[in-house]
Order: sequence, then C-alpha cells, then structure tokens
Amino acid sequence: MRPARALIDLQALRHNYQLAREVTGAKALAVIKADAYGHGAVRCAQALEAQADGFAVACIEEALELRAAGIGAPILLLEGFFTADELPLIVEHDLWCVVHSLWQLDDIEQARLAKPINVWLKLDSGMHRVGLHPSDYKAAYQRLQACANVAKIVLMSHFSRADELGCGRSDEQLAVFQAARAELSAEVSLRNSPAVLGWPQVPSDWVRPGLMLYGSTPFEESQVLAERLQAVMTLESKVICVRELPVGEPVGYGAKFVTDRPMRIGVVAMGYADGYPRQAPTGTPVWVAGQRSRLLGRVSMDMLCIDLTDVPHAGLGSTVELWGKNILASEVAAHAETIPYQIFCNLKRVPRLYSGS
Ligand SMILES: *Cc1c(COP(=O)(O)O)cnc(C)c1O
Repeated sequence: MRPARALIDLQALRHNYQLAREVTGAKALAVIKADAYGHGAVRCAQALEAQADGFAVACIEEALELRAAGIGAPILLLEGFFTADELPLIVEHDLWCVVHSLWQLDDIEQARLAKPINVWLKLDSGMHRVGLHPSDYKAAYQRLQACANVAKIVLMSHFSRADELGCGRSDEQLAVFQAARAELSAEVSLRNSPAVLGWPQVPSDWVRPGLMLYGSTPFEESQVLAERLQAVMTLESKVICVRELPVGEPVGYGAKFVTDRPMRIGVVAMGYADGYPRQAPTGTPVWVAGQRSRLLGRVSMDMLCIDLTDVPHAGLGSTVELWGKNILASEVAAHAETIPYQIFCNLKRVPRLYSGS
C-alpha cells in the first residue's frame, strides 16, 4: 500500500477549540468550511460536537452534509444563501444565516417561511468584499427586526488584516463597526483566528476560529498564543528509494537541483497530486528519522526528493513528515509562497487516519 497519509489528531483539535474559547471568554463557532480545511468536516464536527457552541460553513451544501451525518448543533452559513429557494431548507434544517447584501434582505422579507430564522447581519467595515455599507446597516437591522421571518439577530463583520500585528487597519475597522452598531443591542461577532490570537481588545460575544483549530498559526512572526496551538494534521509518507550520487548530478525534472558534493538522496512517495505544493523549492524543510532535512529539486506529481546526506541512519522505509508536529504547515507555506490555509485545503488523494476521537 502506498505509504502517503494524513494523520488527524482530534484531541489536538479539541485542545485548540478550547484555547479559542478560553482566551476570548466568548462562545465559539468552529469554522469547518471547505471540508474542515481539508481535515474532514464530519469527523471534525463529531469530535467537537460535545463542547462546541456551533459550527460555521460556507454554504448550505456543506451544512446539509453535517446534518445528514447527525450533527444537531447550530450551523451558520457564512455567505448566507445564494438563491432564495434555499430559505425553506434553512428553516427545515435549522440553520443560521448570514445576510451580507440588501438583495438577501429583500428575499427574506418576501419569503413565506414556516418558522423564523436566526440572522447574522454582516457589515462591510472596510474589507470591501461582502457586507452592508455602514450607511445601510441600521435600517437593515430595523427591517430584520420588523420581519416576521426573522428570530434572533447577531451583528458581525470581518477583518482584512488581523494577521498583521503592527497594522492599524483592524482598529479602523473596529471603529467603523462600533459606530454602525451604536444604539443596536444585539450580540456581536468579529474575530477570526488571527483576531482571536492577536487582538484581545476586540469585543466578542461570538468568535469564529478556523485555521487555529487545526493548530496552525496565521502569523508570519512568532506569537505567544499561537505557541500553544497543537498541530492537528501530520502529512507523512516513506522513503521508497535511496541513491548515492557524485558531485555535479541533476535531481528531478528540469535539473533544478544539481549535487554540490557526493550526496545521498531519498525519494519519497508524496507529490503535488497529494496536495504537496509544487512551488516548494529546494530547502523546504522536511522531518526524517528524528531530524530536519530538506527538499531537493522539483516536486513531481507522485514523488519528491529529500537530502539524506547528513541523515545516515535514515534509509529505505524511513518515515518522512512533510508537515505536522515537527515541521509547521506555516513554514512549508512560507517556502512555497502561499499560506497554511491553502496548504491544508489542497490536500487530496491521501487517506486520512483519525486518532483521539
Ligand atoms: C473562513 C472564515 C472565518 C475563519 O477564518 P480563520 O482565519 O480561518 O480563523 C471566520 N469568519 C468568516 C466570515 C470566514 O469566512
């Protein structure tokens, strides 16, 4: 059997969720959109259900998968509905719904619903993606309050630069939010992972941690709370071939690496078809036989090469960690000029093996 696999530590997932709640004192929606960032939404929801205040997903398709698996906790649709015909399903499956645009508000007012729904009213406080304009916010809130199809309302917004700790943009966005919600008495929700970890001054009744649940840091620099996260996913495989090369020999497609001394090369059953980033260059860290080593040359579809020259006790059959408890996904992401979010979401083909449930 091909040795490539992703080990998912559900105990670490619960630890990270608890940390989000503990440091904020808020209720927390575990964000498990995009198949829990590649970790498996149903398994992650099942592991968290006993302690979680609720879950958040991108769309109703993702929510219905959770309901079909027997998850009864609250589920928020982070983009609300895309077409009004989802509204009866939102009622039937007891989902919470973001309203980010006036057209959604119109649709809710015009619908005939069997039961009122919970709405999270989203403000564009400066990210300029979705969310109501500040000048429309209060009137939209009042329309929702007056609407028989609406039960509870939560006020929300989203930060664009919370992962930049020295940046003033989050304070500016917070000021816009506070002005727009003045006079409205409802619970508020602003914080994603970087804001949970790095912005303690932001008020929260509800927080919305995603990336940090999976034990990965959204920050490029080290950060004190992020140190307490535990990696949930370990992507590993094995050395399937070892070769000794003299100096001056090319390794892999395009001869992107040429040996600069006599070298020992390990070939690992892992490639970009598994989601390992093809952009990762020579020097990207890997973990083999209890120590750090490095990627060499181009990543192929099903294989990649690593340096075993200074790891003499490693050989055929040695386990290689591509990211996990020893090599942070954020570190691999930085080498590949991407973010840990994408590293996780790209995972495919490898079987996921769960522990700690
Ligand atoms: C995805 C998402 C989150 C989670 O963000 P992380 O940075 O992964 O914590 C929170 N809120 C909204 C609206 C989102 O779309």
